[in-house]
Amino acid sequence: MIKGFPKIKRAMLLEPAINSHFSDIATVCVEEKMNGFNVRAISLDGKITAITRGGYICPYSTEKARYLLNINFFNDHPDLVLHGEMVGPDNPYVPKNIYDIDSLDFYVFDIRHKGSGEPLPVNERRKMAEEYGFTQVRLFGEFTKKEAPEKIHTIIKELGKIEHEGVVIKDPAMNIPPIKYTCSQSNCADLRHAFRFYNDVGRDYLFSRVVREGFQAFEWGENEEDLKKRCLQLGESILNPMIDSITEIEKGERVSDEVQIRVRSLDTLSEFKEYLRRQGIETMFEEPEKIGDEFLVKMKKLSKSTNDKTLSMFKGELW
Ligand code: ATP
Ligand code: MG
Repeated sequence: MIKGFPKIKRAMLLEPAINSHFSDIATVCVEEKMNGFNVRAISLDGKITAITRGGYICPYSTEKARYLLNINFFNDHPDLVLHGEMVGPDNPYVPKNIYDIDSLDFYVFDIRHKGSGEPLPVNERRKMAEEYGFTQVRLFGEFTKKEAPEKIHTIIKELGKIEHEGVVIKDPAMNIPPIKYTCSQSNCADLRHAFRFYNDVGRDYLFSRVVREGFQAFEWGENEEDLKKRCLQLGESILNPMIDSITEIEKGERVSDEVQIRVRSLDTLSEFKEYLRRQGIETMFEEPEKIGDEFLVKMKKLSKSTNDKTLSMFKGELW
């Protein structure tokens, strides 16, 4: 049995959250939170298989994982599950160009036992990942609880400048569940993307990202100038993409989320099409483009609800 990956709760105020959540331990490990999609990799009948968050076997992630991961790990440790973030531009779920990744890479952030879902301690997991040559998330360090909030503040400022997402704060022994904390720039990047498809994205997703900004600005005691900058950035992230969408739809265009994948085999492409269709995700695929020994396939995920809602406004319907 492969357990689902547990939900990681969020710190809104670093200092009280760290003190209260990790009250029984002295130090915490701070790792980078990579922005991609969560994959559980296992070996099934001797072949690497990739499972996404909802518990589906994703044919695209599976093809990639087979090229990226060392099969010896699964042969040597049949009772372990490799947890990682699939990150990069050739990404059908969360495409990002902010990392120095050519296509898609697998960043290990957890190794857990099958069945129980029990995680390995941070250092043991990192050593094992290194042994098998896996790419892994960056470890910023192990800090005392007293110094952690200030250290994380500095790390978050630096990560924000390069639009990286944030950090996950972990018990070195992994007995206490980890917590996460993100950069304002990453929250705003999420909002920019989400408000382009304002009627397709859940309201909790949008609202929680606005609330985070309030707590972060408070905890960091920002001066008037920094606060102005934050307000402007937040407002622009919400309004600009929405206005762009409305403008495009008025012109007769349709807004859609444009993503791409790069596959070695066209069979993977057919399986991936079927996989999306079964999940009810309406997608228009372009013709595959041969690049070296791979195929680049661009696709548009249709945002039906945003298009319909906006069109209805132009017809004078009321909200
Ligand atoms: P959740 O996973 O908490 O239910 P979510 O799907 O919105 O919510 P995120 O807000 O992205 O997820 O945060 C948790 C996810 O972060 C994990 O599921 C994992 O895929 C990803 N992640 C990236 N880097 C790390 C890391 N270093 N340690 C743990 N998880 C990480
Ligand atoms: Mg994520």
